[in-house]
Formats: sequence, structure tokens, C-alpha cells
Amino acid sequence: MRAFFADRVRLPDSWAGNVRIEVDGDGTIAAVQPGGAPDGAVRLSGPVVPGMANLHSHAFQRAMAGLAERGAVSGDSFWSWRRTMYDFVAKLTPEDVEAISAHLYVEMLKGGYTGVAEFHYLHNAPDGKPYADAAAMSRAVVAGARNAGIALTHLPVLYMTGGLDQRPLTSGQRRFQGTPAGMFELLQALEAEQGPELRLGLALHSLRAVPARPMREAVAEMARRDPAAPIHIHVAEQLKEVEECLSHLGARPVEFLLGEVEVDRRWCLVHATHMTDAEAVRVAESGAIAGLCPTTEANLGDGLFRWESFRRARGRFGVGSDSHVSLDAREELRLLHYGQRLISGRRAYDLPGRTQHLGARLWLDAAEGGAQALGRATGRIEAGCRADWLVLDADHPALMEREGDLLLDALIFVNAGGSPITHSFIGGRCVIDHGRHAREEEISRRYRQTLRRLLA
Ligand code: ZN
Repeated sequence: MRAFFADRVRLPDSWAGNVRIEVDGDGTIAAVQPGGAPDGAVRLSGPVVPGMANLHSHAFQRAMAGLAERGAVSGDSFWSWRRTMYDFVAKLTPEDVEAISAHLYVEMLKGGYTGVAEFHYLHNAPDGKPYADAAAMSRAVVAGARNAGIALTHLPVLYMTGGLDQRPLTSGQRRFQGTPAGMFELLQALEAEQGPELRLGLALHSLRAVPARPMREAVAEMARRDPAAPIHIHVAEQLKEVEECLSHLGARPVEFLLGEVEVDRRWCLVHATHMTDAEAVRVAESGAIAGLCPTTEANLGDGLFRWESFRRARGRFGVGSDSHVSLDAREELRLLHYGQRLISGRRAYDLPGRTQHLGARLWLDAAEGGAQALGRATGRIEAGCRADWLVLDADHPALMEREGDLLLDALIFVNAGGSPITHSFIGGRCVIDHGRHAREEEISRRYRQTLRRLLA
């Protein structure tokens, strides 16, 4: 048992002072005692808040961030971005993916994320055939996460068809191809590695890539193997997807999904941008998490999520960095709310009812929603949860002389340069110490070598 002591800790319902936190040998919080004694405890240097879960990542895309920003009068789009991504994918080896992942995850840790759900669809060798070890790419991601020390929920992605008309995959997509049986073999191969910092689940790439029948079968099989395993899917990201879905399936994407499978708390609907109010209410009532990726959605011109009707129905959400044009959890939440303010002409709308500190509400709800999507007990500093938290710098210009939830409001809505997050703990281990990661030079050197080869 280890003990920590902090002057101020954001507990699930309020801030508490002089808090002693006991953590067991496994990295789980055993007790939280406000007004406790500091004897023998590790002193945390500033206010403590729960770490954020990053619920949507495609690790390799970090290496191509910023490479698809050349425009033309006709306009670039999601679909032309996707072509750039396919060209990039063709060159990647498992060693590259490990180097990119490790670097990405260190950056995530510095940006306030303590766990990540990796929506992993790069399975096969460049010729489209499985590697001799079919799990080679998955193992590269797992190794990257271990090297960085971030908690990982690994979600191998089922990707079968090239469109809603079930056309075959293009050459650019053959590295993604798999069958439900292949995905379960892959999960089986990784099973022995599971532990408090590695959770396994399943992802369905999208309705474009997984026809209804294999989708239902894969979901049933996943539930049989692990009834609580997270299930993620990209859905209703683009208007073109909604139009194709209506013409091929006779329903909107979210409407179709809700009709085909029982969507519940295990599910994370990534983007879910283009919903009607009725769909938003149904998703909220299902208990599923809306996986919002505001910086990527803005970068790709996806659209704005139907926040007001979703939140009125008490919908739960979390955030993800997706294509990794930003690795700052604060920026995702700020942009999420700014998008809603710009479109509504109002400032502070969230849950109906009481006046609240929006920064605090967004941070705490996204941390809990993200934890649900990752299938991990995080997002709350209380007994039974993992000891995953952040320590803030109370002397940072953004936070100076702020108390209580004004600290979290400032954390999200005030950008004073630099990061006010000084330390990051995962399972009670300090992985970011005074803004530094113990292995960052070595991880950075490998990342640079990888980029040099990929961009040559
Ligand atoms: Zn994605």
C-alpha cells in the first residue's frame, strides 16, 4: 500500500482539502480520506483532478498530421484526406507503428490523457496478406503503450467491405481487411497480455465496412467471450455517409445501427455527428457514449454534434484525438463547447437545470464517459477506481489564485501558453514528472528516424 497527500483534490462531487489517498499494490485506490494526515505519504505538488480517457485514436495518423492541408478552389474534403492517409499507410511497418505509438502516447500523457482506446485497423502486410504473426501490428501498438506507460484499451477493427453496396476493398484498403474469425483470433493472441493497463474490446469500422449480418454475429461473439467488452464504431461522420445509408439501407446510419443491434453502455458511437434530434435522444437513452473528436471533426469539416438535444436527454460523452491534429484534452473540450456557442449564439449551455461550472462539468463528465468507453474504472478519484490522476500547477498563469471548480473552468477555457499539467499518475505510478517523461529522448529519437524514412 502506498499513500499520497494533496492539499486539494477534485472528488466526484466536490473539492476536498488535505486529502490522503491510499493506493494498493495493484494500482487501485483503496481509500480517500479528506482532512487526512500527510504522515509517510508522497506529497502531490498541486491540485489533483482525474485523468482524461482518450476514447478514439488511430496511432499511425499522428505521423501524417499536417500533411493534407493543401487546398484548391474546388475544396479539399474528408474523402481527399482519406486518399492521403491511404498513401501513407502503404509504407508503414510494425516497427514504424511501435515508434509512432510510443511517441504519440507520451504526447498524450502530457496533454492530460491517462488512457487511450486505440481503434486499430492497420492489420495486414502491404500486400494485404496477414503477417506471419497476424497480431504483429497490434503488438506494436501494445509495445508503444507499454513504453510510454499509458493505459490502453486495444480495439482491433473489423473491416470487410469498401462501401454500403458491399463492393470489394480497394488496394489502398487491403491492409485493413479482416473477418470476424480473424479478429477473434487476434484478440485471443493478445489475451495473455491483459491486465489493469491493457483492456481488449472490438471495433466495427463503420456501416460502410461491415455489413449487417457479420456485425450482429461479431457483436454476439464478443459478448459471449467478454460480456462487458467495449464495442466502438464510426457512425454518421459525414453527410455523404448519411445519403448513401438512406439509399442502400433505407435508414439513417444511427437509426439503422439502433435497429440492428442492441446498443447499450458497452458501446461508443464515434462522431455520431449527423443525427436527428430523435436519434440523439435514443442514443442518450441507450447509455452508449458519444465519442466526440472536435479537433479532428473540425479539421475534416465533418460538422457539429447535436449537443443540446443529446445533453437534455442526459446523454453521456467523452473525447478522442482521432487523427491527432491536437493532443490536448483541454482543447478538445474547449472546441466542443465553442462549436456549440458559435452555432447557437449562446455561451454556456450544457445539462438543463442548475447553474454550473462548465469547465468542471465538461472535464468530469468526459473523464467518466471516456472511462466507460475504455471499459476501465477511471475518471473518478474514489475507492475502487484506478489511481489515474493529474497534478496541476496552481502557479501557472491560467490557474493562479483560482479555487474550486474555477480551476477546472480555467483549465479548459483559458489558454495562457504552456501546460498547467505538471504530473500524470497511472495506477499510482508517476509517468509525467514536472512535465517530463523518463524515456522521452530515446522515444523522440526513434520517432524522428521513423519520420525521416516515411517522409523521404
Ligand atoms: Zn476514427
